[in-house]
Amino acid sequence: MPATPGVAVFGVPRTPVSGYEVVRMNESIDTLRQEFEQDFAAISDMETWKSVRDRYLARDSGVITTALKKLRDIPKEDRPAFGQAMNRLRTFVEERLQEKFAAVRDADLASKLQKTDVTRPGFPISLGAVHPIKQLQKEIEQIFVSMGFQVFDLPEIEKDYYNFEALNMPRNHPARDAQDTFYFDQTNLLRTHCSAVQVHSMEAMKPPIRAISTGKVYRRDPFDATHSPMFYQVDVIVVEEGITMGDLKGMLDAFLKRLFGPGTLMRLRPGFFPFVEPGAEVDISCIFCSGRGCAKCKQSGWIEILGAGMVHPKVLRMSNIDDSRYSGFAWGMGIDRVAILKYGVDDIRLFFDNDLRFLRQF
Ligand SMILES: [Zn+2]
Repeated sequence: MPATPGVAVFGVPRTPVSGYEVVRMNESIDTLRQEFEQDFAAISDMETWKSVRDRYLARDSGVITTALKKLRDIPKEDRPAFGQAMNRLRTFVEERLQEKFAAVRDADLASKLQKTDVTRPGFPISLGAVHPIKQLQKEIEQIFVSMGFQVFDLPEIEKDYYNFEALNMPRNHPARDAQDTFYFDQTNLLRTHCSAVQVHSMEAMKPPIRAISTGKVYRRDPFDATHSPMFYQVDVIVVEEGITMGDLKGMLDAFLKRLFGPGTLMRLRPGFFPFVEPGAEVDISCIFCSGRGCAKCKQSGWIEILGAGMVHPKVLRMSNIDDSRYSGFAWGMGIDRVAILKYGVDDIRLFFDNDLRFLRQF
């Protein structure tokens, strides 16, 4: 049984001590060392190792730490000798404990392993997967990155200026009605399309510009089989010298063939969007009947897929692009709409209900 440690070290009187007292202090250090040796010999595992370490070295209450704090109670002339002796003891204790540490740790691990059946089968881990809309979003981005486009990651909370005004839709413009908007205040809104990439990219770069942005957009639509107040879009812009409608057609054709398959045909019909002139609605040959006519395409053989056009000169000028030198095209497409077509899903809500039975099919 270890004696109460350090009894003689504590309560050293403030009055000067005689040579006899110093001898007593040295004896007490020896006693302390012996007590430590006894405690040390009893260390059998990590728990006892920690308790011995704390008993002697703990910052607040360790025997050695406390004794060193009492140094000021000892007469000045005796302090160096006592301090040195205590420090030697502390170093000795630290070293012994350090030596023992690895052995104690290994023994602890071995005893834990003994109690563990490592051959027992583990618990099954259920893996998540990327949402089908997100997969499609990445696929579309990769097609454009391979064509040298820059991807802009833009905020979902947008300024009215970027969402409308700089896209040739000033306040009270009738086209704003078609995009029933969630406003926070006069200036801030939830973006209704990703078309702000046109303005942001023209502000950030000099032509030639090839930029796209994809992500969530918001409109005050009902939540039914064909509408959702939140959906995904991709918007594309190219601005260079000498860009024509022919470039737009060529790039769209290449993109749609990569997305829907090499046999995909495309046609343009006149369409109106305030930020392009001229504008076009773009159809692809029906992917269900290959253009022969079916219920999905209302027997027309064509399916409307996106809106496009040549960037309006006003939009170029508002973003400080010289419209006498540069021209460009832009287009936007709903990613959910593509998902509905590609995967043959007839209710957009299925993509957002997060029913795992549905999502695991992709
Ligand atoms: Zn069809």
